[in-house]
Amino acid sequence: MQTNFEAPFLYLLFGRDRALLLDSGAGGLRIRPTVDRLIGEWQRRNGNRPVHLTVAHSHGHGDHVSGDGEFRDRPDTEVVGHTPAQVSAYFRMADWPRDIGHFDLGGRVLDIIPTPGHEPAHIMVYDPGTRLLFSGDMLYPGRLYVPIDHFDEFRESVERLAAFSKSHPIRALLGAHIEMTSVSGQDYPMRAPAHPAEHPLPLPPSAIYELQRAVEHADVPPVIDRHADFILYPRPAHPS
Ligand SMILES: [Zn+2]
Ligand SMILES: [Zn+2]
Repeated sequence: MQTNFEAPFLYLLFGRDRALLLDSGAGGLRIRPTVDRLIGEWQRRNGNRPVHLTVAHSHGHGDHVSGDGEFRDRPDTEVVGHTPAQVSAYFRMADWPRDIGHFDLGGRVLDIIPTPGHEPAHIMVYDPGTRLLFSGDMLYPGRLYVPIDHFDEFRESVERLAAFSKSHPIRALLGAHIEMTSVSGQDYPMRAPAHPAEHPLPLPPSAIYELQRAVEHADVPPVIDRHADFILYPRPAHPS
């Protein structure tokens, strides 16, 4: 919140051989020193094993990719592109968005779930070991922005996500922002510079089914729809 009102969360996941940095942030501060320190600490605890770093993104919006430049010259590091073609190629998905990708960090295989709608290259990442679902900007305690001309695509992603969750136990969803207050259904003003008394970050898996009901019963055209833990927030189509 001190450098950017978007205040996105970044996640760094470790396996035996690789680490995945999910999102590189909104810019305005250097994140690589923190990432390098965390990787160094992990290596010291794990016999100084080499760690190959992948920088991937929940999606290509500026508040999630603006730190990419800090990693382009980092040794043993790959920065994944921002288009659906680049994301599906990197995670070896033949049939975007219907395939589930698999990404092996070494003893820790993540599932990559294409979830376009909020943005064309949006993914969620599921970790079977912790049963955590990293849900990006699609489902978090805040305003879930959906361009109105991509609402059908968003709904289809919600349906596929709901199907995935039937066969994969989920302990909690960890999204990329918090915009809800601790008062049910109440968000902060847009671009609020501080978030006193935030809603907790984790959402229960039941939020998936609540979102599913919300998109299935949405008006045509969809309108802003307030729920206790999130607000479904259709936006005008981007001018082309
Ligand atoms: Zn976004
Ligand atoms: Zn965002």
